[in-house]
Amino acid sequence: MRRRVALGLGLAAALGLAGGLRLLTAPAPDIRETFYVFGTLVEIETHDVPEAQARDAMARVGAHFRQMHRDWHAWAPGALESLNEAIAAGQSFDVDPGLAQLLQQGRALACRSDVLFDPAVGGMVEAWGFHADTPPEGDPPAEAVVAKLLAGHPKMTDLTIAGTTVRSSNPAVQLDLGAYAKGAALDLAAADLTAAGITDAVLNAGGGVQVLGDAGSRPWRVAIRDPFEWGVVAAVSLRPGEALHTSGNYERYFDKGGIRFSHIIDPRTARPMQGIVSVSVLSDSGALSDAAATALCVAGEQDWPRIAAQMGVTAVLMITDDGTMLVTPAMMDRLEPVAGGFPAPITVVDLPKDVAIPVCPAG
Ligand code: AMP
Ligand code: MG
Repeated sequence: MRRRVALGLGLAAALGLAGGLRLLTAPAPDIRETFYVFGTLVEIETHDVPEAQARDAMARVGAHFRQMHRDWHAWAPGALESLNEAIAAGQSFDVDPGLAQLLQQGRALACRSDVLFDPAVGGMVEAWGFHADTPPEGDPPAEAVVAKLLAGHPKMTDLTIAGTTVRSSNPAVQLDLGAYAKGAALDLAAADLTAAGITDAVLNAGGGVQVLGDAGSRPWRVAIRDPFEWGVVAAVSLRPGEALHTSGNYERYFDKGGIRFSHIIDPRTARPMQGIVSVSVLSDSGALSDAAATALCVAGEQDWPRIAAQMGVTAVLMITDDGTMLVTPAMMDRLEPVAGGFPAPITVVDLPKDVAIPVCPAG
């Protein structure tokens, strides 16, 4: 994109027709559209794209989002709900190729995370009250309910995905794709825009952002929200194709007896994770950044460097309950202080080298 603008201006100067050519080479006004998908507003902005082309591309993305919303929703009628019913009844179920591919991707990511990212824990998420558009009010589930969920031991590796036919060896599996659906959706939307000839755009889905190209003469620059107060922790200038996702305990949660119960469930305890306020992950894939941000919240302060290395992400920012900022060297290189510096001292944490990458059992 930069090259095209530079070439245009160069031509104008050489021909001495700057006034006339400026009309041709001036950037088109930025086009913005907002979509609603999976309970989140997604804003897409294109840069320097003729309006008709941008609107046409957005329409394709909108149709794709509507389909994802129908097929991937964990608690509304649609393909995923039907699949969950079939799993509970011990039956196999045929899904469309897009959902089969997403489930394959989720299964592979789950293995890489030691199944801390586990989209099979939908039953646990529901029991804690998070299968609703508004955060739960009331009490945590009874101990007996939690114990039963834990005993069911649902995990993504219980799934067998043969082409588009999905079955589970464990009826306790209930799929909830919420931990990576947003990232995967932005990957697909970015691919739709690329297919429509759009080279420069930003896709922003509250907690997740992905970019194509740049914003003209400068990169797309985004802020990481401060989870403790209204403000930002830092800014990041995204390189073409990058995705930055943040997960945390401040988005969807309820407080009871001085304890915060968030929507991120630790599959090892069937309870909301504790100790971490937010994790941000920067990578070249929306699905990977999103899944890893959730997995590292669950992994917690001790284990996250190993899980990050296993999942193949290098740029991570973790903020713990007491406000400590733990940052990998790759993320440190990218964080830009905003207005007066970072909100807390930063500890740089190296990721372990030569970790063994877990291999998924066949299925
Ligand atoms: P995120 O905001 O990306 O961290 O995703 C959180 C959502 O993922 C929750 O609202 C649940 O729908 C789902 N979820 C919760 N815990 C897990 C987990 N351990 N692994 C996978 N998905 C989860
Ligand atoms: Mg996530």
